[in-house]
Amino acid sequence: MTTGTSAAASPVALPPYEQVVAEYDPVLGLEVHVELSTATKMFCGCSTAFGAPPNTHVCPVCLGLPGSLPVVNAAAVEAAVRIGLALNCHIAPWCRFARKNYFYPDMPKDFQVSQYDEPIASDGWLDVEIPTDDGPRTLRVGIERAHMEEDTGKTLHVGGTTGRIQGAEYSLVDYNRAGIPLIEIVTKPLEGVGSLAPVVARAYVAELRDLVRGLGVSDVRMEEGSLRCDVNVSLRPSADAPYGLRTETKNVNSLRSVERAVTYEMRRQAGLLSAGQRVHQETRHWHEDTGLTTSGRSKEQAEDYRYFPEPDLVPVAPRDEWVEQLRAGLPEQPSVRRRRLQQQWGFSELEMRDVVNAGAVDLVAHTVAAGASPASAKKWWLGEVARRANEAGHDLDSAAITPQHVARVQALVEQGTLTDKMARAVIEGVMAGEGDPDAVVQARGLGVVSDDAALLAAVDRAIDALPDVAAKVREGKTAAVGALIGAVMKDLRGQADAAGVRALLLDRLGSPS
Ligand code: ADP
Ligand code: MG
Ligand code: ZN
Repeated sequence: MTTGTSAAASPVALPPYEQVVAEYDPVLGLEVHVELSTATKMFCGCSTAFGAPPNTHVCPVCLGLPGSLPVVNAAAVEAAVRIGLALNCHIAPWCRFARKNYFYPDMPKDFQVSQYDEPIASDGWLDVEIPTDDGPRTLRVGIERAHMEEDTGKTLHVGGTTGRIQGAEYSLVDYNRAGIPLIEIVTKPLEGVGSLAPVVARAYVAELRDLVRGLGVSDVRMEEGSLRCDVNVSLRPSADAPYGLRTETKNVNSLRSVERAVTYEMRRQAGLLSAGQRVHQETRHWHEDTGLTTSGRSKEQAEDYRYFPEPDLVPVAPRDEWVEQLRAGLPEQPSVRRRRLQQQWGFSELEMRDVVNAGAVDLVAHTVAAGASPASAKKWWLGEVARRANEAGHDLDSAAITPQHVARVQALVEQGTLTDKMARAVIEGVMAGEGDPDAVVQARGLGVVSDDAALLAAVDRAIDALPDVAAKVREGKTAAVGALIGAVMKDLRGQADAAGVRALLLDRLGSPS
């Protein structure tokens, strides 16, 4: 164990990323918690539904009252086995739960039921496609284990400015989440990726999310916490040196942040090491707004959780035939599915890569299923929606617009109700929570004027206002009609179809169209 330096570490500068990767070799470890979307909790019959009033989805079991006895949720075990199989893991023919003992108010029992040295799934891998300047490269990420556990409750610290416990007047605890099934998936140390480390970390979480989503066992929404990622990072002077001391940045809640958190930690640690200081083995907090991490809990002294096998639960022993049945029923792998969709959509390598990198494969697929063409679905998601989501600083699939909305916007464009510009305004409205596309068109008074009377009146006003131009058109100088079209469009605040206006004007002025 290290005793540390006595001198307080002085702040050091953040070296540029290029310098960091020239001087150090990063090692990563990713721990992902997936909240299962089972109807009931891990060890009791309480509902897992989100958003209920505090402490209404609780019972003696998940509150840990004396004398209550837990029972394992079979659906959760099935989900765990399927995740393990999809990750090419060995499925334990026999394993147990363990008690992890520690005190924290959000854990009503003062221990968490988890798995320790007998995880249900271990020793697997996941292939991840990394975009590089020389084209996509496939990297195999080793999976150490996937195990079952229960979630904790939620604490709300009231009265402070930061929402943290420091400075708060009091705290409230909501146990609705306590006991919801989680699967924790832990990678083996991931080395040899050098400067790609932040991109690899992001790609791994994205691939894992797609895989779990494909299994239909979780919503995998990072912002809502149904997929949470802890990012371990260490640096060493060269690829053949022993691993350096790692930090563990907790609860990084978007794909973008996974990449940013790894980048920042690499730079911060390099700054320390280059200044002759040491990296403290600790957990760190990620700050979405500033892109920084700050010190959390020290991990220099191994915490003693006094793990022991959970005496109130029987072992889990999945039968071989059942495991093989689940294996046979696994869905198409995300990478295979992506290739199939690329074919179906007629996208080039580059177009598909853009969709994948934007995390929009499912969004495009669902938009196509809702009736839009692949090209238009791609255009909206990677264009206007992505731009606005990015401005708001969140991932595409957390935007308040659905594939059905996007397909509807595109349909309105195709039927001539919306111009491209109006469609963008409708998307803005939907994303701002103003309702579905039709509601936004109504409320904002968007939509091309196709009412003939209104259109004709505007055409006549333009002809009256520009008699000289009108005369030229009457003489057959049809090129002059542009000025009249402009006047009509201005009159109707752009809400008319220009080609239709042109035809009407030429007709009105007796000129061949
Ligand atoms: P903890 O109990 O501290 O969370 P885990 O074993 O659950 O530890 O997870 C640690 C993660 O960090 C794993 O993904 C592991 O592969 C990875 N890891 C271990 N050592 C290092 C290191 N020196 N640098 C980076 N990652 C590491
Ligand atoms: Mg861990
Ligand atoms: Zn309960």
